[in-house]
Amino acid sequence: MRALPWSPQDFAPGLAIELLVMQPTPFCNIACDYCYLAERDAVRFMSVDVVRAAIRNARDSGLLGRELDIVWHAGEPLAAPVSFYERAFDIIDEEVGTTVPVRHSMQTNGMLIDERWCELFVRYGVHVGVSVDGPAGIHDRHRRTRDGRPTHARVMQGIERLQRAGVDFDALAVVTDASLERADDIIDFFLDSGIVRAGFNVDEQEGIRTGSSLTGADSRVRAFFTRVFERAADVPERLRIREMHEAVGRVATGLPIVTVAGRPLPANPQVLPFATTTVDCEGRFSCFSPELIDQTHADYGSFVFGDVLNDRMIDALASDRFAAVFDDILAGCDACRAACPYFSLCGGGAPVNKLNEGGSFRIAETRYCRQTIQTPIELAMAALEAELLPEHRPLTID
Ligand code: SF4
Repeated sequence: MRALPWSPQDFAPGLAIELLVMQPTPFCNIACDYCYLAERDAVRFMSVDVVRAAIRNARDSGLLGRELDIVWHAGEPLAAPVSFYERAFDIIDEEVGTTVPVRHSMQTNGMLIDERWCELFVRYGVHVGVSVDGPAGIHDRHRRTRDGRPTHARVMQGIERLQRAGVDFDALAVVTDASLERADDIIDFFLDSGIVRAGFNVDEQEGIRTGSSLTGADSRVRAFFTRVFERAADVPERLRIREMHEAVGRVATGLPIVTVAGRPLPANPQVLPFATTTVDCEGRFSCFSPELIDQTHADYGSFVFGDVLNDRMIDALASDRFAAVFDDILAGCDACRAACPYFSLCGGGAPVNKLNEGGSFRIAETRYCRQTIQTPIELAMAALEAELLPEHRPLTID
């Protein structure tokens, strides 16, 4: 472990928040059985004072770059009222709008979308992600209300409202064991529903979800993504799959390189301090993987590094606990560099998955990264090779 705490001078180019995750409430209005949130029953909401303190703190800590993405997420962001977001967006605009372009997005279960929400999304240019796992038979296996009722029909009403209002949105599907042999049904569902962009999150072992339906299912997950990519490649003008798009981008250009205390590192916003910063409804802040904010660990205690109302964000960098977490995350990157051929395209994955699957930030591979990083990269590489080296082109070897 490094003897000294970190300072902003150890990073080139400098430290900046790329993604600010604002958690307006831990509460969720439904109860999916694969949910990782410990406090989804807790009815607490962020105040506009916390919103103002968070954005001022980021600015006064010198952590704002040339632009800023803010995602409102976890629990269900639409459980907070429209009026909260009107005020929150205006405050953020007042504080930084003239110097830093801000893009807002929300990740929602879609149950509460009505015309007022659509007006808000259009007025503020909010990008929306809607969780829908595919057709009802797949989606309703896991995404149910607290009293066990299915949610698919109401989510689709929300999606239709977004479409009528011309709101920019993506679908986000959790891949579970129930999805793996149903790739065609899921793609048909997206196409039939007029969904033009979709992403897949694998069922993760994280937080209070201590297992995953995809444990031991690597080859089936690979077959699933193979079929998804094949289908999407047939209709590129009608459907874009996030994992395919991102993997092709990574293979084509690699990740930019940053320098951490003189060591080059592929830029991965989950391992660089503050690149991903999370603020919860009470103003507590964390960084690295957003899910860490709710977790504790015997080696570190909490992953909360301060609160935006009382502590300058940047000062967290000099704390012993921050140094312990960051040093172990860097050790995990070193393990990845030594073991994984995809390190330059990944940059060390998601620390929270290393901790929750393997018990340590210091490890390399996880099931999560095999299924959701390595597999898409391998499929993208195979597709590019097939394009560059078609069978009819003879290979000459001297
Ligand atoms: S794909 Fe996995 S093992 Fe490879 S660099 Fe990323 S996190 Fe590390």
